[in-house]
Amino acid sequence: AMERSARAKRMESLGQLAGGVAHDFNNLLAIILNYADFLTDEVTPEGSRDLARIRDAADRARELTGQLLLFAKREPTQVETVDLNEVVDCSGELLRRSIGANIQLVCRRRPEPLPVRANRGHLDQILLNLIVNARDAMPDGGVVVMETDQPPGGNARLTVSDTGCGMTAEVRDRLFEPFFTTKPADRGTGLGLATVYGIVTDAGGQISVDSSPGIGTTFQILLPLAAEPADQVPDADHSPAPGNG
Ligand code: ADP
Repeated sequence: AMERSARAKRMESLGQLAGGVAHDFNNLLAIILNYADFLTDEVTPEGSRDLARIRDAADRARELTGQLLLFAKREPTQVETVDLNEVVDCSGELLRRSIGANIQLVCRRRPEPLPVRANRGHLDQILLNLIVNARDAMPDGGVVVMETDQPPGGNARLTVSDTGCGMTAEVRDRLFEPFFTTKPADRGTGLGLATVYGIVTDAGGQISVDSSPGIGTTFQILLPLAAEPADQVPDADHSPAPGNG
């Protein structure tokens, strides 16, 4: 427990720092993109190729600052009661687009509802981060299984497993650290799993990983079950944010 709280504190201060930088950077990037837009009609063909490169780089930078902002939890979020089964959806357009055609996505959902208290967007993000990592671990294709169930102990469980490259014990020890990545700089930010970790622990849950090099990796997330099914719970325990609903 000691180690965990030290880790949580370190992540929090890193998050604050990263969030402050990301926020200012986002504004600057918006200016860069705006002026690149203004120039589009005024430049020569060669110039417009260069301009496209500027735009691409600025777009990538915006994705990165977006991740940083999420990691730093700078955006206000609303907690609601969500059925975990609804998050796990193989027909989900975003998941489909995020994964290559050489990867088979298998989805096993629980028939009864699994209500948890969390932000819906955050839960989607968790799943997306895990799926993107699974994809990156399987450059030659493979299978990703996402599964929900209810183990004993009052939790809902989300399991995501892949048949990818797996990881060494060294990587496994560090994978929830912010900015820890084994990917090339233009691919990995090292924020994906740190963000997942933050969201899960904020929601009172736990995350664990089981991985064997050359065989694959399984992530398990436990989230406390809420008392009532998702669609029967009026949000009476907090005032809704204005314009959010
Ligand atoms: P990023 O994906 O940007 O590198 P993450 O925090 O999501 O950042 O992941 C950190 C590291 O953990 C990855 O660089 C990779 O080495 C390892 N990792 C994460 N998920 C998997 C997986 N499913 N299979 C193998 N390695 C993984």
